[in-house]
Amino acid sequence: MTKSSVLGYPRIGADREWKKALEAFWSGQLQEDELHSRLQEIRLNHLRQQQAKGIDLIPVNDFSYYDHILDTAVMFGIVPKRFAYSGGVVPLSVYYGIARGTKDAAASEMTKWFNTNYHYIVPELNDASPALTENKPLTAYLEAKEKLGIEGKPVIVGPLTFLKLSKGYTESETDGWLDKLLPLYTQVLQELADAGVQWVQVDEPALVTKLHAEDIQHLNKIYRTFAEAVPGLNILLQTYFESVEHYNDIIALPVQGIGLDFVHGLEGNLQSIQTFGFPADKVLGAGIIDGRGIWKASLQDKLTLLQTLTSFVTTQRLIVQSSCSLLHVPVTATRETKLPAKLIDALAFAEEKLDEIVILTQALRKPDAVVFATIHEAEQKLQALQHSEDRNRKAVQEAVATIRVQEPNRSHPFAQRYVAQQDKWQLPLFPTTTIGSFPQSSEVRKARQQWRKNELSNEQYASFIRDQIDRWIHIQEDIGIDVLVHGEFERTDMVEFFGEKLAGFAFTQYGWVQSYGSRCVKPPIIYGDVEFTNEMTVAETKYAQSKTNRPVKGMLTGPITIMNWSFVREDIERETIAYQLAYALRQEVEALEKAGIGMIQVDEPAVREGLPLKQDQQANYLDWAVKAFRITTCTVQETTQIHTHMCYCEFHDMIDSIEAMDADVISIETSRSHGELIHSFEENTYELGIGLGVYDIHSPRVPSVEEMSSMIDRALRVLDPKLFWINPDCGLKTRGQQETVASLQNMVDATRIARAKH
Ligand code: GLN
Ligand code: ZN
Repeated sequence: MTKSSVLGYPRIGADREWKKALEAFWSGQLQEDELHSRLQEIRLNHLRQQQAKGIDLIPVNDFSYYDHILDTAVMFGIVPKRFAYSGGVVPLSVYYGIARGTKDAAASEMTKWFNTNYHYIVPELNDASPALTENKPLTAYLEAKEKLGIEGKPVIVGPLTFLKLSKGYTESETDGWLDKLLPLYTQVLQELADAGVQWVQVDEPALVTKLHAEDIQHLNKIYRTFAEAVPGLNILLQTYFESVEHYNDIIALPVQGIGLDFVHGLEGNLQSIQTFGFPADKVLGAGIIDGRGIWKASLQDKLTLLQTLTSFVTTQRLIVQSSCSLLHVPVTATRETKLPAKLIDALAFAEEKLDEIVILTQALRKPDAVVFATIHEAEQKLQALQHSEDRNRKAVQEAVATIRVQEPNRSHPFAQRYVAQQDKWQLPLFPTTTIGSFPQSSEVRKARQQWRKNELSNEQYASFIRDQIDRWIHIQEDIGIDVLVHGEFERTDMVEFFGEKLAGFAFTQYGWVQSYGSRCVKPPIIYGDVEFTNEMTVAETKYAQSKTNRPVKGMLTGPITIMNWSFVREDIERETIAYQLAYALRQEVEALEKAGIGMIQVDEPAVREGLPLKQDQQANYLDWAVKAFRITTCTVQETTQIHTHMCYCEFHDMIDSIEAMDADVISIETSRSHGELIHSFEENTYELGIGLGVYDIHSPRVPSVEEMSSMIDRALRVLDPKLFWINPDCGLKTRGQQETVASLQNMVDATRIARAKH
């Protein structure tokens, strides 16, 4: 009989009670035993929910106290030497030390989980000697069984993926590491089998990335070892986020089931199955409900897809499941009351996705009238949103259709703009500037809250913001910065601020998802055609400019960043959404220029986050991402200086695209890349204005003049002094006033020294 399954459930709870418990523990308000009991309650609740909905294979061990990759490392006793740890079960203090740092030891690195916005802790293998510290999947399995009578499906991270995500070893040492890890994995699996576990889900998302011949050898070694050591256990080898590479090698592995993503890897996986078939002795985990998107599924289409799959695998051997863990979607749509009804009706968060999985499973088992009615109802609700005005803004659609076939070029090439801009702005050598935001003090946050609660009128709030701008314009002038900013005091978040002012966006009340550790984000939803309605930044920028003779940079968030940090509609291509955003933002750029603002920065820190996993799709994505930026910025006069800003350091393979954005000046984060970025400019030329961040804004420490001088000298060995700008790594909103002023003062002093040398 067809079974229903989920690959993982959100940890945070409908009220973010998980986050609250963690933070209370870290701040000392919650004792360790209280933390354990609270988290257990949350964990059991999530299991109960899935049980009540009728999910057959309920995941256990998907829950975590911080991150599942960290859990895996810790389970194998892989703890960096700098943490005082001497074997045995890893204490919570060490566990959270690795995740967050202690006063003596820096945290482990954190990085993006494939192409999602979830971040995991990077295991450091180095000279660790792995040993099994506890069988966490077994504990989770027994807990579910004893407390709730659930026959859970333990989830573990597979060895290939675990090693690929770890650092501190070379490729040639992979075999050695497998020899150390496989016995531990085997012991975990053996104990699970002894306890009566029927299915284990072994997550190997690395199988959707590009693999080498050695990877396939390792894969064979891993799963052969498991099959020989624990023959009685059913392993479901689970992949997600894309279609698998090397389908034939994967289906030949000695495992009992294979899980494939038929949402994000639909085309490739379906093609593989249709071309090569599916082994008759294996179970297929068909990931057909999107674990990453927030939309209701078209159940009719999904059912058709499932029926297609039944020509390759019998219904007895089919599992209907989510495409990946539901970790990436908010918990429940039932609490959203303030959204337009037709939008609410079209949403499916984790809880609603359980219903979808169950209905589709029933549709294959024994469809009845209720099943058909539900399928029909879903279709109607999706259609209602589809036909709504929000998705049919003719003016936007026509404008974007025209714009996308034009070449978004500035009126003059950079060389000519450079001369015209030098002439107009008369900036000194190595102009200094900042990235946009200044400290969001508690005073600023309080005023905003009061205004949101109507305790401050619009005029009172605007006047408060003007006071902040005044103050910081003076500070910047006193320090001697050349290009000023207004400080972004009116913005909570660089995406939300624009989303709230553009048509086509909606904001949930509780739509939180985990980003890293206890940090959750509540992405806006782009559900309709995006349209510019009113000026968004002109008043504050114009006001700031009226207070100084120095140029003030206008400050916008770019189209790709807004898109990549939102949940987006799926009825049109991302490319089209990007162009709609670009067209709306272009109108803001033009409004700023018209209001006398001659320098405009369009931030694009999240371009890299949208990069497809499949290499053959990356160039196309970068092409349209660059185009969207150019659409936003191409209509200004040659003397108007376009700036952009990007964080993060992995730019070596993207420099051509960044150059193609054709911004007059780019500022990028440098200090955390440990010289790697500067190194990439040795190998690639970059011939537009560029500011490399000269200090790390993530720490309250005030960097010395000497440190920044040496950073500047180093950069000037590879970059053209005529094009070089000096700025911090990123915005300063999380810093305090004192350290900000002191750091910027040192930065300006370091600039004076550099100018004297050239
Ligand atoms: N202008 C934004 C700021 O200064 C840029 C932030 C970012 O790059 N993430 O806050
Ligand atoms: Zn930044």
